[in-house]
Amino acid sequence: MKIAIIGTGYVGLPTGVGFAELGNEVVCVDKQAEKVAALKAGVLTIFEVGLEELFQKNVKNQRLQFTLDTKEAVHDADVVLIAVGTPPNPVTKEADLQYIYAAAEEMAAYLNGYTVVATKSTVPVGTGDEIEKIIRGKNPNADFDAVSLPEFLREGFAVHDFFEPDRVVVGADSQRAKAIMAELYKPFVGKTELMFVKRRSAETIKYASNAFLAMKIHYINEMADFCEKAGADIFEVAKGMGADKRIGNRFLNPGPGYGGSCFPKDTNAMACMGKKYGAPLSLIEAAIRGNDLRKTKMAERILKAVKQIPSAKIAVWGLAFKNGTDDIRESPAMQIVEQMLKNNADICAYDPKAVTNAKKVLNDKVKYAQSALEAAKDADVVAVLTEWPEFAEVNLTELKSIMKTPKIVDLRNMLKEKNPQNEGFEYWCIGKRDDA
Ligand code: NAD
Repeated sequence: MKIAIIGTGYVGLPTGVGFAELGNEVVCVDKQAEKVAALKAGVLTIFEVGLEELFQKNVKNQRLQFTLDTKEAVHDADVVLIAVGTPPNPVTKEADLQYIYAAAEEMAAYLNGYTVVATKSTVPVGTGDEIEKIIRGKNPNADFDAVSLPEFLREGFAVHDFFEPDRVVVGADSQRAKAIMAELYKPFVGKTELMFVKRRSAETIKYASNAFLAMKIHYINEMADFCEKAGADIFEVAKGMGADKRIGNRFLNPGPGYGGSCFPKDTNAMACMGKKYGAPLSLIEAAIRGNDLRKTKMAERILKAVKQIPSAKIAVWGLAFKNGTDDIRESPAMQIVEQMLKNNADICAYDPKAVTNAKKVLNDKVKYAQSALEAAKDADVVAVLTEWPEFAEVNLTELKSIMKTPKIVDLRNMLKEKNPQNEGFEYWCIGKRDDA
């Protein structure tokens, strides 16, 4: 099939690469000239495990192309996938749909023959109706259907999740659109469930899923706080809870709060939708408030560990919002660093992938190291903020020998198994009282 992808970011690019790998002809369009130039020159613009090889292969065999020109991408396409950003409105926190609407306007005149316009971006319920209106308004003769095709991929696992999704949800209200989507997802038949639902249900499924996962994270974080006070151990509690199949053992790792480009904005957008439709979503609202506060509490926890030390040096391990990605959007690590900077903290940070992005925000307000150990040299405390597996591999004897004061605040509970206390560290993790 011929596929156009509008927006070549964390969703659009892996999706384009994935569909090209499955044998489709894919043209990706983006507004950012540098991004398109880099991709045309064979340079990947994001980091995703396993993406490079598939990208190079499909660029070479010309199944994957890039352009700045919407017309060039769209005029031949059987399916146009919209994968532009839907950031939060800074004031109202609703999803800002300006990029979606602009994409619909820009493509309208060039749709040629029957085309399915499918929205991969996360959009509020009813957005499909608006896309339809915009395209019809600009091109009354266009033969198309607007479909909702929510994306569930996880950053860091985008390639894996493209080829092995838990489910594919298609919100289509016409038989013709369903047939095209069934054709597009034919390679997935037998591997995953292809769910056809109403367009408004598909739009809601995405937000309802993300908000549920965010609440699950917030729940275990609050439970960890409770364990710290009550003398229980969150590891044992989470294990005991997770063994119940109705609960499941995933998303039960306590940490510094949920972040990333999706959960914070999607919980806010869902809460706004609840208000709009007169169906308040009080659990989601509580999770939003609690998660926002958590980052400040975590920064205070690190600063408390060194409060007796004048001009303490803090080593930060991890800036990305989670491991496996260079994405720092709404990263709890970045928010904790910024909070500590307000308290004039002296910080040296290391992240295996996210430093380039972090520098655009933090500039020279922190120092940057090339390795975890380099960041920890002469430090008074190491703060583990992102769960990069390499942090669990660190040799504690070596770490202790290069630090000024052997203290670790482990907000990802990565070193707990190694019992840093036995190596002479003062060690704080999440969800367990020091003396318990
Ligand atoms: P992104 O910011 O990484 O990429 C969006 C791209 O769209 C940018 O490169 C931008 O230049 C381009 N763009 C904007 N308007 C355009 C236009 N009119 N024509 C061509 N290109 C245009 O965003 P993302 O992280 O890929 O997210 C995209 C959508 O997918 C969002 O709605 C997001 O909520 C959703 N989503 C994201 C993830 C994720 O893990 N990042 C997962 C599931 C769903």
